[in-house]
Amino acid sequence: MRVKVLGCYGGQLIGFRLTSFLINDSILLDAGSPAEGLSLDEQYAIRHICLSHTHLDHIKDIALLADNRALRCMGGDMSNSMITIHSLPENNAVLRRHFLNEHIWPDFTRIPSPEDPTLRLHDIHPEQPFEIDGVTVTAIPVNHPVPCTGFLIDAHGKQLIYTADTGCTDRIWEIANAQPNLRAVIMDCSFPNEYQWLADKSGHQTPAAMMRDLKKFDALGRVPVYLYHMKPESLNIMTAEIEALDVPHLRMLTQVDELLL
Ligand SMILES: [Zn+2]
Ligand SMILES: [Zn+2]
Repeated sequence: MRVKVLGCYGGQLIGFRLTSFLINDSILLDAGSPAEGLSLDEQYAIRHICLSHTHLDHIKDIALLADNRALRCMGGDMSNSMITIHSLPENNAVLRRHFLNEHIWPDFTRIPSPEDPTLRLHDIHPEQPFEIDGVTVTAIPVNHPVPCTGFLIDAHGKQLIYTADTGCTDRIWEIANAQPNLRAVIMDCSFPNEYQWLADKSGHQTPAAMMRDLKKFDALGRVPVYLYHMKPESLNIMTAEIEALDVPHLRMLTQVDELLL
């Protein structure tokens, strides 16, 4: 499986894009930045979005990705362009009520027509695997102020764990430990240690709290753990704090990363 980092930051500045990972060209894990990080052709190849939760930094580009489908149609390509969003029922309800509600953005679940829409919302349920484009996906609830799931991605017997936004949590580590061929973990690490109070309040990790959580991960030091959701303005401090932990195969992601798992 190929995992291309489109954005891996918990804030948007020039050169720092919001959370989004592209798996094998057609599946997105969260949609903070695909419209910024991909060409129109690459955007058009997207067929699925596994959506962890409805915070704006993860849904922003659902709106723009849908709108860009129309650009492609104006260019003469009328082939089916539907994207299915896979998320918890409560998250899909929030998208309907508060995002694709004709006030914030047009309802692309009915555009160009209800029968052949640009976006389709698919309800998923914790720990019930589903298959998309040859990949098996399982949502695992994590610890965030709104309903949020990480994802286990299994492609041809190789697994990836994406924690999504979370403070300290248990179940995802039990599932990670049970995988026969886990190749990588992508994990929340948002704030430097001095902002532990803010991490606790907002359901995120600091390097110190993250290390306490990683004690639950049996393969620490052997299976790579890649960190995302860093606040760009505290990157220097966090780099030093993470280096000081001195854990093999633990590092922050960057936007040029493409992981081959
Ligand atoms: Zn969040
Ligand atoms: Zn976030």
